Amino acid sequence: MSLNAESTAFRSALEVIRAVEPRVADAIGAELADQRESLKLIASENYASPATLLAMGNWFSDKYAEGTIGRRFYAGCQNVDTVEALAAEHAKELFGAAHAYVQPHSGIDANLVAFWAILADRVESPALKKAQVRQVNDLTEADWFALRRELGNQRMLGMSLDAGGHLTHGFRPNISGKMFDQRSYGTDPATGLIDYDTVAEAAREFKPLILVAGYSAYPRKVNFRIMREIADSVGATFMVDMAHFAGLVAGKVFTGDFDPVPHAHIVTTTTHKSLRGPRGGMVLCGPELADQVDRGCPMVLGGPLPHVMAAKAVALAEARRPDFAGYAQRIVDNAQALAEGLLRRGAKLVTGGTDNHLVLIDVSGYGLTGRQAEQALLDSGIVANRNAVPQDPNGAWYTSGIRIGTPALTTRGLGGTEMDTTAELIHTVLSQTTPGANADGTPSKAKYALDPALAETVSKQASDLLTNFPLYPAVDLG
Ligand SMILES: *Cc1c(COP(=O)(O)O)cnc(C)c1O
Repeated sequence: MSLNAESTAFRSALEVIRAVEPRVADAIGAELADQRESLKLIASENYASPATLLAMGNWFSDKYAEGTIGRRFYAGCQNVDTVEALAAEHAKELFGAAHAYVQPHSGIDANLVAFWAILADRVESPALKKAQVRQVNDLTEADWFALRRELGNQRMLGMSLDAGGHLTHGFRPNISGKMFDQRSYGTDPATGLIDYDTVAEAAREFKPLILVAGYSAYPRKVNFRIMREIADSVGATFMVDMAHFAGLVAGKVFTGDFDPVPHAHIVTTTTHKSLRGPRGGMVLCGPELADQVDRGCPMVLGGPLPHVMAAKAVALAEARRPDFAGYAQRIVDNAQALAEGLLRRGAKLVTGGTDNHLVLIDVSGYGLTGRQAEQALLDSGIVANRNAVPQDPNGAWYTSGIRIGTPALTTRGLGGTEMDTTAELIHTVLSQTTPGANADGTPSKAKYALDPALAETVSKQASDLLTNFPLYPAVDLG
């Protein structure tokens, strides 16, 4: 029997790798087996298509291509130009953006490119102009001093980490928190929702240079039209980081006021979360910021990753197909089915439900910390991550929440019935887990007890749930 193209491709690749370092080939094979067996509810993960994966494993990886299309610092970049232009073209068409910069290696890089583009656009700084045109070696001590002073104390207003914002939106441990004087807006304690009047108030008081919207753990839509009005009212540049929900924008589930592209001055994203592409980042903007954004290299980035840009072009082409809209809608339908299943069984959810791809369970309702819940679920074959809830009493390490998302399971084809079973499994584990104590009798935020027999039963049920939904059904590694 002849093998299909995917199986042949991956088998041959592993055979070639095995001849050099068999342990790497084994680990790659083991990763596929693990992914096939796990009920993956990590909201930021997905499964890229075989075409996307294969586009990354080739000689594009060998090529240096600093610069932009047609203006490279290296010779012989004509084929890199082709794939970079294709990726940008697909991104512009897909999202209706005037300009797309597809070089960022990750979401955080995309944000840094955007921040520097905004600074260069908004702050009058001769020293920054000098640094940008690659005269870094010519910069004197006085220039560096001027650069710091000229850029000094620029302000950013973003969503707080515990309300679901991202650490690149100005939090101290991240470089963004060192570049900017940051203040954050949270959510209404009663509803868990963004209160736009409070955001407007904070903007009026703080007068930020940049207003950032976007999140990693907020289960609702954001009205980007209102956010833009707030930004305009204080003369801020409005940036949206759609890293998590880009797939829902691409699939036209988020339209009108909820589509960031027509409302923001600049939009950043990852390509590997709900968008289902390769690991990477991207920046979209209008013509006003395009030149500054294209200076991402050398300002922030070194050589682009041409093999990843090739894979971005493939994944974006896939996202432009009509069936991607169906996928995006099913992601949200599944998240809502999961939320309803959990609520019906008595779980406490932040904001009481979801409008997007993720659900945030407040596990204090089960008397647990996020850390205890995460581990107990993992013991039971359910992969999800702990996450802070608004005003979290347990802080960012132990937390009080579990974040679950549906992009990955939706790619496998699971639907509403399976989501209800998943809710049942999660509720069973969390309601049967009891918090542990430290040696001195005080309550522990990490220890817990769960009957191993129950964990095993749930693991079995979780893997049974997946048997009808094979991952990469066309890939047989033999
Ligand atoms: C995931 C995420 C990022 C960072 O993406 P990386 O590729 O991991 O650097 C940035 N912003 C938001 C909102 C995210 O969710």
